[in-house]
Amino acid sequence: MQASPALERAAELVALAVNARLQSGGAAMLPLEAADRQAWRPNCAVANCYASGAVGMAAHSDRMTALGPCPIIASLSLGATRCFRLHRTQRVDLWEGAGGTGSGSPHDTAVAAGADVVRVDLQLAHNQLLVMWPPTQETWKHEVTKTSKPFTLHKRSGATRFNLTFRRMKPGWEHRVPTCRCGRPAVMKAHVPKQPIQQQQPTRQLRYYYACESDGRTKASCGFFVDVPHVATLA
Ligand SMILES: [Zn+2]
Repeated sequence: MQASPALERAAELVALAVNARLQSGGAAMLPLEAADRQAWRPNCAVANCYASGAVGMAAHSDRMTALGPCPIIASLSLGATRCFRLHRTQRVDLWEGAGGTGSGSPHDTAVAAGADVVRVDLQLAHNQLLVMWPPTQETWKHEVTKTSKPFTLHKRSGATRFNLTFRRMKPGWEHRVPTCRCGRPAVMKAHVPKQPIQQQQPTRQLRYYYACESDGRTKASCGFFVDVPHVATLA
């Protein structure tokens, strides 16, 4: 689908913010993203609409099937302020850049288990940009929580929040997607490693697989499952 001029302009501004952060060295990068380190440029955007506090998005990580491992995903919030919750699924030792970055709000909260942050709540306001740096998709789940409590409305959209997430589909990744036994393209996801990921050679510790995407309505799955060969050799 062709992007509107306004969406193209938004993508340019989002890319400027992401690239400024990369060039300042403020974000931890992985070898797999080295090509993007020069100039990250989104080539698709996913839009979501949350019409009221009764509408949310359950905890998930974004599919990496067409993005490849360790994607940068930049999320622009428009309209009402809603809570964006991150749940950590895997310890990542010494990776300061893992998790999201945003401009921050005094209402943001973090929940720790011992010395480890395991859950972060961010209040995402109108025009705020949240960047999920790699390996956020591999090591955290995220959700938009439903709420019956009052939240900050927007003067034009009222209780509605819109969200545009900018991504970069990497050439090659969508072409190697296997077909599951249902005859549908499989989805690529990350294994959750049993051991904390160490800083040394981090990409060697990440593992991925293709699986049948269960039918959203019936939850039916053919059980198709195949490990992705070592990603360092594929990138
Ligand atoms: Zn299937």
